[in-house]
Amino acid sequence: MSAFEFSKDKLPKQLIINNEYVDSKNSKKLTVYNPADGSLVADDVPLAGEADVDAAVEAAEKAFPAWKKTLPSKRRDMLNKLADLIDQNAKAIGELTRITLGAPWGSFGLFEVSLCAETLRYNAGWTDKFGGESYPQEDGFMKIVRNEPLGVTAGIIPWNGPVGSIGLKAGPALATGNCFILKPSEKTPFAALALLPLIKEAGFPPGVFQVLSGDGSTGALLASHMRVRKVSFTGSIPTGKKIQEMAAKSNLKRVTLELGGKSPAVVFDDCNLENAVNWTVNAITGHSGQVCFAASRVYVQEGIYDKFIEKYKTMVAERSKLMGDPEAESTVLGPLVDKAQFERVTGFIQRGKEQNQGTLLTGGARLGDKGYFVEPTVFTDVKEDSEIHRDEIFGPVSVVRTFKTEEEVMKMSNDTEYGLMAGVFTQDINKAMRIASEFDSGMVGINCISLMMTQAPFGGSKQSGVGREAGINALRAFTEPKTIMVNMTY
Ligand code: NAD
Repeated sequence: MSAFEFSKDKLPKQLIINNEYVDSKNSKKLTVYNPADGSLVADDVPLAGEADVDAAVEAAEKAFPAWKKTLPSKRRDMLNKLADLIDQNAKAIGELTRITLGAPWGSFGLFEVSLCAETLRYNAGWTDKFGGESYPQEDGFMKIVRNEPLGVTAGIIPWNGPVGSIGLKAGPALATGNCFILKPSEKTPFAALALLPLIKEAGFPPGVFQVLSGDGSTGALLASHMRVRKVSFTGSIPTGKKIQEMAAKSNLKRVTLELGGKSPAVVFDDCNLENAVNWTVNAITGHSGQVCFAASRVYVQEGIYDKFIEKYKTMVAERSKLMGDPEAESTVLGPLVDKAQFERVTGFIQRGKEQNQGTLLTGGARLGDKGYFVEPTVFTDVKEDSEIHRDEIFGPVSVVRTFKTEEEVMKMSNDTEYGLMAGVFTQDINKAMRIASEFDSGMVGINCISLMMTQAPFGGSKQSGVGREAGINALRAFTEPKTIMVNMTY
């Protein structure tokens, strides 16, 4: 067992630079609250400023030459060890996240800590398998293509998956020989800041894996830094656009963007009804709807609509009963992350009702009088151009519409700037495959929706993203091909 020393009674409040805990040189601090009751958790969390970012970049630059030459098997062992240590300390890490995120352990905490560890292991397996290419030499030149690391890289992550996102970004960055600086969300900084004992015990040298807590200003310093060569970002579309702009204006650093969604689930008359209801309800209520690929638009064919909506409504309404104190074992759904998110989600619901954007089928109210709990909510008959139909709400709110034909539903599904995930529910495999190819979307589920796999590319088309995480694509995104041409006639 490692020397993991943190808990909600002993929170980590220092930056991780060069394998040391150091105080921020910036006098500004972050304040975080517990969303279950609105109480103050801490008002002295470091907000890394320019001097801190420079110190981390310098340490990373210094570490890079030796790190990129480290034997792949050693990098593999370190990543595997880190994964094991994360698993061994999963409950403590979960507690550090839950105290400001509010997501219960059983339904989310365990899932995302395991996702982090599994992603690290998946990438560990690639360290000695991510080969390059070579091309025929009959023209007198041998062509060898090497996948080379980029140097100092950064990961800027959101609050909704504060531990899972670490594995998705640090895993491929470190496996391919980059140094990596993590910037967790200002709303969920503690799990990331607690990692130093585990990073050291896993054997990572100083400067290879560092953590800077901070807000958007810290993220902006990394995105515009002249010596950071890549930013892998997960968050909202407006921030993603700013990051791409900062990358272009500074040093043309490489950018991967994992952004928002408004994912459609298309339910045909010939589906397995139980299966379609289960997936679509889980997909909008899980993590209280704070999931980028949540099935927030549900399109149901006319013939099955009455049966579907009855079951969907009942099941969504029942989920309200599972919402409550995230510390209680029986709780499945927690509060929204903070006051701002609560106001955003309830604002959408309020305007949806007041402006007759649709018919409120179930939910729509705050639960309790403290904390940021919002009932799972469904609107039916929503107007096509309404805000609740078109915008990402990022809470437990779905909209349902009916359709007659395939053509009509595909037009509706694709009439959006988002393109993260889509799902189709039918027992006709030909139709399913046809629809899957027609979705403008980075990911498609057939008889399932709102899920991800470590081995396969994860990401969105259109404004839902640029590039992909997970699978071999993540390794490609953290490396650059170098072509070496050998004159064979010399
Ligand atoms: P956000 O864009 O507000 O913040 C994300 C991160 O960016 C945070 O760490 C924040 O500090 C940082 N940031 C903010 N302003 C910045 C700036 N100007 N420069 C650099 N960094 C800056 O997003 P959020 O509210 O934390 O997360 C919710 C959003 O994330 C939703 O839109 C959701 O759909 C999206 N998301 C996408 C995925 C995906 O994989 N596609 C996964 C999870 C969440």
